Amino acid sequence: MELIVSGIPVEIYKKRIKNMHLYVKPPDGKVTVSAPLAVSDEAIARFVVTKIGWIKIQIRRFDEQPRQSMREYVSGETIYVWGRQYYIRTEYGNKNSLVLSGDKAILTVRRESTAAQRESFIREWYRRQLKAEIERLLPKWERITGLQCASWQTKYMTTRWGTCNAAARKIWLNLQLAKKTPECLEYIIVHELMHFIEQCHNERFMALMDTYMAMWREVKSTLNGQTLDYME
Ligand SMILES: [Zn+2]
Repeated sequence: MELIVSGIPVEIYKKRIKNMHLYVKPPDGKVTVSAPLAVSDEAIARFVVTKIGWIKIQIRRFDEQPRQSMREYVSGETIYVWGRQYYIRTEYGNKNSLVLSGDKAILTVRRESTAAQRESFIREWYRRQLKAEIERLLPKWERITGLQCASWQTKYMTTRWGTCNAAARKIWLNLQLAKKTPECLEYIIVHELMHFIEQCHNERFMALMDTYMAMWREVKSTLNGQTLDYME
């Protein structure tokens, strides 16, 4: 579950613990609170407010850390598509395209294009890949779970893989999922669908995940071991 405190999203995990713990995690300075099961959301929000100065300092520290350098999208660089690595071979032409062939990603761009223009073309290419997979996998998981999603969107995000509005039954999926294995996308789809019935990451939530996806913990740890980077 997520609370917004002073404009900052705070991820809440309720557990069988005695005290509240607050974390600001790398790489993006994501704010997380672990709280005992009995503590109300209001009490958690009040707790976070008392720490807001410290949180902002931590987030700023992460922001100032060097990120992965921006790519040029030239031959020799690599990109990931559905968990597989491809070596970019840049060719020049009038029409942008990206074609996967063996372990090569043949990127055709205008010779004078900037890194930012190539980046934006590739981002939209990932979006098409992701949309096609969502159209294949979401109906499958809706059928299995019996939960219907009213609408979904792909979104470029740097701090989370997916998010949802449970009341509106709407899901947002991170564009960067097209770089990971299809299982990662399936895990995030199931995770967000489960939030339609349980908003917290509590024991009930985990039991629901276990019911539908036996391997979800493994997939989650793979996903969390990889940074959600800004220009991967
Ligand atoms: Zn969640």
